[in-house]
Amino acid sequence: MRALITGCAGFIGSHLTESLLADGTEVIGVDCFNDNYGRGEKLRNLRCFADWEAFEFAPIDLARGDLDDLVAECEIVYHLAAQPGVRPSWGQRFESYVRNNVLATQHLLEAAARHPVERFVYASSSSIYGQAERFPTAEEAIPRPLSPYGLTKLSGEHLCQLYHVNLGVPTVSLRYFSVYGPRQRPDMAFNIFCRAAIERKLIQVFGDGRQTRDFTYVEDVIAATRAAAITAEIAGSIYNVGGGSRVSLAEAIELLEQLVGYGLEVDHGPWERGDVRDTGADTAKARAELGFEARTRLGDGLAAELDWLASSPVAS
Ligand code: NAD
Repeated sequence: MRALITGCAGFIGSHLTESLLADGTEVIGVDCFNDNYGRGEKLRNLRCFADWEAFEFAPIDLARGDLDDLVAECEIVYHLAAQPGVRPSWGQRFESYVRNNVLATQHLLEAAARHPVERFVYASSSSIYGQAERFPTAEEAIPRPLSPYGLTKLSGEHLCQLYHVNLGVPTVSLRYFSVYGPRQRPDMAFNIFCRAAIERKLIQVFGDGRQTRDFTYVEDVIAATRAAAITAEIAGSIYNVGGGSRVSLAEAIELLEQLVGYGLEVDHGPWERGDVRDTGADTAKARAELGFEARTRLGDGLAAELDWLASSPVAS
């Protein structure tokens, strides 16, 4: 069994690569080190498995590289490469969101249509819902992205659907909800909060801190992603992947205070455009069809991220 993992040097992609290699799957990993955060951090992720014999690295930009040979060699495609992040997706940066999230996805789907694969798993996002009307939010809710990022992730999902319906590409889209854990991207809230806590610096929160997120530990996301690749008869399906730990940012900071054992100073800045007030996943479908169960409690997952940050050398 050989898998193609795009975005293998990123936060979630690096965990997926390690997990599959550890279980004996050969992996071709693709990444172009785009500039959303430091190349050093991505190289550090890559070094965790670069030496495995069963791993091959292809430093290709999906938006313009030739993908036919790569896809032809693999049975499963995990498409995690993207330009993530809500806040920077406005203005001129939107172009790179369209390029890395829409064009790149279309190129990969074209290659998968020419070289049939057993499954094409697409990493979608809770951001496609925008400000949902109901919580927990089920997959049938009408998507109304509130940010340009969310719009490009929804476009990727629609591309997966239409390549499935028209060309038989066996796509499955997973809507990940606020993933956290070791190697989390440096622009994400828990990484910023944990670093500030370790350095005893002020924590900056956008808004009043009462916004809620359904935080999902990265290992649980990997379990759902792997299940989506091997479960029979689910091509064309979409699933929420949420952690069942819907808490406010203020509550998460309180938990962090308990973990570090001292009080943290918090400053509240203005609300950021594109940020939704709440997210919450209804995971009944993933539970019934993928056997997905979020197993990691927020306190344990946050402790693991804190440990990782405390022991990580500065990326070079
Ligand atoms: P990440 O930025 O750490 O990883 C993405 C990787 O893709 C990066 O290493 C980047 O260099 C690579 N990449 C981007 N464009 C590329 C291109 N054109 N060609 C080749 N490589 C390219 O992000 P992440 O947090 O690990 O997110 C992984 C996926 O999960 C993304 O699709 C993201 O939209 C989705 N997602 C993440 C979260 C989350 O909370 N982290 C939530 C919902 C959805």
